[in-house]
Amino acid sequence: MKPQTTHFRFKASQTLVNDQIQQSLEHVYTGFHEGRLTAAANTDNWEELRTKGKAIKDHTIAHLDHYLDLLADSVEKNGGHVFFADDAEEARQHILGLAKANDVKTVIKSKSMVSEEMALADALIDAGIEAVETDLGEYIIQLAGETPYHLIAPAVHKSRKDVAALLSDDFKDGDPVPDAVQLTRMARSKLRAVFERADMSVTGVNFAVAESGSIALVTNEGNGRMSTSVPRIHVAVMGMEKIVPSIQDLSTMLRILIRSATGQRISTYVTMVNGPRKPDEEDGPEEFHLVIMNNGRDRLLAETRMRESLNCIRCGACLNACPVYRKVGGHAYGWVYPGPIGSIVSPVLTGLKDASNLPNASSLCGACHSACPVKINIPRMLLELRWRTAEGKVDARERTSSIKERAVWKAWRFGMMGRRRFDLGARVARIMIRPLSRGGWIKKAPPPISGWTVTRDFPLISPKSLKSLLSVRTKHTKRDLD
Ligand code: SF4
Repeated sequence: MKPQTTHFRFKASQTLVNDQIQQSLEHVYTGFHEGRLTAAANTDNWEELRTKGKAIKDHTIAHLDHYLDLLADSVEKNGGHVFFADDAEEARQHILGLAKANDVKTVIKSKSMVSEEMALADALIDAGIEAVETDLGEYIIQLAGETPYHLIAPAVHKSRKDVAALLSDDFKDGDPVPDAVQLTRMARSKLRAVFERADMSVTGVNFAVAESGSIALVTNEGNGRMSTSVPRIHVAVMGMEKIVPSIQDLSTMLRILIRSATGQRISTYVTMVNGPRKPDEEDGPEEFHLVIMNNGRDRLLAETRMRESLNCIRCGACLNACPVYRKVGGHAYGWVYPGPIGSIVSPVLTGLKDASNLPNASSLCGACHSACPVKINIPRMLLELRWRTAEGKVDARERTSSIKERAVWKAWRFGMMGRRRFDLGARVARIMIRPLSRGGWIKKAPPPISGWTVTRDFPLISPKSLKSLLSVRTKHTKRDLD
């Protein structure tokens, strides 16, 4: 998928005025976020599990080379094939090559963000191969010609009416809108035949277990199991960080992933794949291929201050908790990964200069950090990226701040560093902005704060500082006590 991170402001402002999408985004909070809070409250050792999850990921990422080698050996011992792809192009070409060599006509896909990075479905279709998404949300998005809106709910922004129009050529404005069960039946009737004729499947990987060579898939729809057992070739694609050392570690990670993603204790299906079908087995693929993709992750690995982002298990909890994501929606982020984690991963993987708006799309409230099941300190990394765009000290080409902006912040810093300077600055600002106000509010401010008043009013600076109000109050309280 080609990054469109430069369009953040435009896409965000479009979403902000779209009432239907705003309503759909509410569900992200009331459904997923509140579900996660309830699931966490009902799990006695929740904080202990989060700490354990973080320790497992920290350890694995610190010894990634070792565990990748172990995983490759284990998969091959199980009869599978492993391919390490340096970037999306290499991964795409490898999978296209497999499809062509095996005369594949139809590929079914289950949900995988890594395959979005590769733009795999489009590449297969361009090569004359039928490629169909089988996760319901992904199928809807494919029919709409869009990209996923959320890590675990790709079509969360679509209304039932939108979905009906996509699934049925006969649906017209004014027709009764089918309910969710009817819509699912409509999709099922279309997809069933595709499952039957597919000769290859491409799935994602929630976790790959290094010691056993197993891959785990967490789904709430039966498409994952159909994809891993019906076609004769199964290709699983993963980012190189999606690895855990052992089955015991997998059990911890599944518990925190599922609760954080949907608030369930366990998802409808947790599928374990251990390579191709064995001679005594009745179903399963004849061939199993695991494609492990780098695509810039080595840059995250090399940067000690950004490495923690590789701990992400793509549960989506930070998106659901984020007040910014819940307003601007998933497409504003302009690449595969939206929300707070996308604001860290996209700038590093696709280039900070074009994605410099993303680290700024945060109130730094810390809700993402509190929600994250592996305790990734997202605000710290957002600040790191902001610092880079402001100063350009890691790579001068990354600096996006103008001379004017830097001068304003230098003056601000100078003012904030001394008590007297701060008081004087506040007094001067109070006097200067008073003529612009009407009824205590400034409705149209001049630069550099003109952007603020486009969508909201700017308050007058209070005639008394908080400190002076507090000191009067303290004096009163002391007198009362005496
Ligand atoms: S950063 Fe944490 S909360 Fe966000 S998707 Fe990744 S694991 Fe989940």
